[in-house]
Amino acid sequence: METLRKRIQQIKKKRPGYGEILDFYQKVKEEQEKTKASLQVDPIPLKKEWKDLLKKEGFSLIEKKDFPVDVEASCSLFRSLCEIGKDANPHMAEQVKKIEENIRNKRMDLKGLLKEFFNEQKVEQTTHELGLDKKVLLFLIDNSVKPSIEAGVERFLNEIDTETWMKGYCPICGSLPFLSLLKEEVGKRFLLCSYCGYQWRIDRMICPFCDNKELGSLHYFYAEGEETYRIDLCDKCHQYIKTIDLRTSGELDLPLEDLATLHLDISASQKGYKRPVPNPWTA
Ligand SMILES: [Zn+2]
Ligand SMILES: [Zn+2]
Repeated sequence: METLRKRIQQIKKKRPGYGEILDFYQKVKEEQEKTKASLQVDPIPLKKEWKDLLKKEGFSLIEKKDFPVDVEASCSLFRSLCEIGKDANPHMAEQVKKIEENIRNKRMDLKGLLKEFFNEQKVEQTTHELGLDKKVLLFLIDNSVKPSIEAGVERFLNEIDTETWMKGYCPICGSLPFLSLLKEEVGKRFLLCSYCGYQWRIDRMICPFCDNKELGSLHYFYAEGEETYRIDLCDKCHQYIKTIDLRTSGELDLPLEDLATLHLDISASQKGYKRPVPNPWTA
């Protein structure tokens, strides 16, 4: 957490415009770290057949709903995030107040929502009925169960081998990648899951979203003076993924670095490319 705080100070000095969102990010991360320390999460149930399927057929191991979640811990994290949200931007503050009121009046069943954290339809229905912003409620739910999801994945990292997976979606939960990473001296490329945080290997030159491998239609660009970050564009599906080169930077908090390089996303969008999984902090 200390490294994260220092890094945030560093970025804020360089780009004061990011100050508000980075402060919010830091507060949320602090609460999530606190939650992680006392979490009670069952191991993700892994069957041998599933492991074989992973190798042979390219099916991801589990569905979002199979992640064991500590509902009590998520509930209390949800409430802490609401507190933090009151000091965030005015829209968030207004939404959080409405959410709290609905919980108090028992019009919103928080525990039920967190138990079914994977059920986007349920969130949609709730927000529709109560006149709330779906994005805000989803953000709060996702960030409240996140420590459980990540703890589950961390626990079985050593049990699975995804070296030959090489697909554009997560071998664990099937979600799309959020970022692409270059690691190790030879420049192996990895993708980072937008949902469970798992990292898996993929070819250097391939679009993870449409499997395009034609070199002529894959390009990238850097921001001036920042070769650690680049945008990989695909001319076939007109989508892009941000790549962080960890060989030059060392270990980084990846969602934070993504958030601090939104100017690259703006450039990519001006060039006409879409990002399949946007940064959830900006929505
Ligand atoms: Zn995943
Ligand atoms: Zn593509």
